[in-house]
Amino acid sequence: MFVRHLLSAAAGAALLLSGAASAAPNALKSVELYAIDCGRLDLPNADAFSDDGAYKGMAKKMVVPCYLIRHPKGDLVWDTGLPTSKQMLTDQLKQLGLAPADVEYLSLSHGHFDHIGSAGLFAGATWIVDPDEKASLFNEAARKSPQFAAYASLENAKAKLIEAPTFDVFGDKSVVIYQAPGHTPGHTVLLVRTKGAGNVLLTGDLWHVAESRAAKRVPRFNFNRAQTLQSYELAEKLAAETKAKVIRQHVPEDFDALPKFPMPLK
Ligand SMILES: [Zn+2]
Repeated sequence: MFVRHLLSAAAGAALLLSGAASAAPNALKSVELYAIDCGRLDLPNADAFSDDGAYKGMAKKMVVPCYLIRHPKGDLVWDTGLPTSKQMLTDQLKQLGLAPADVEYLSLSHGHFDHIGSAGLFAGATWIVDPDEKASLFNEAARKSPQFAAYASLENAKAKLIEAPTFDVFGDKSVVIYQAPGHTPGHTVLLVRTKGAGNVLLTGDLWHVAESRAAKRVPRFNFNRAQTLQSYELAEKLAAETKAKVIRQHVPEDFDALPKFPMPLK
């Protein structure tokens, strides 16, 4: 929202005189995290979500969330929901006076269809992406998939590559992306340190089903089983060390316990 802020600042001389029109893209003083509904999935048979057969024949409901992180230095969207979520997401952002073009940073826990659905809305943002995930999203097979159009425009977006185990988005350790591969080659999780809601760990698709976390169940379709188990350990260690609230992103009970948009987590 950089441009809009400048415009409003230019309209108000008092703002300029008070120094409020600094380089900060929004007027926030602390980090805020918002959960956004970006669709639902109704699975008649969740068998694919555990390679030990634990969910064979079991129906499961999943929520498909997007997250908005507002930091004094800019806004980050984390995951962009189902392909059908574009209008939902746009309408919800509007409640905060935000258009997709106002968002400075985009990052996706990974490139599956229910995380990249509205990614194309943020082609003007800086895309923070693991290089292995980026490669898998733009290989020959991916280019032929029906989902490709949803994120194709990211190929030309400004990008920052997550080349180390951690990526500190704003340089103050308040919003940090961690490599957590296994579900996909470059799957990541996000730790957000808020004042009001404490530390929150958004775990992407480490665990699609509530009981998968304690039972350490691995989906049949994961890219690498051993890496997945290592990423479970990393997430548990990180959550314990930072006393973070762990959010299993697809689990309805985790999502439904959060404040409804446009309220931030508190
Ligand atoms: Zn996934």
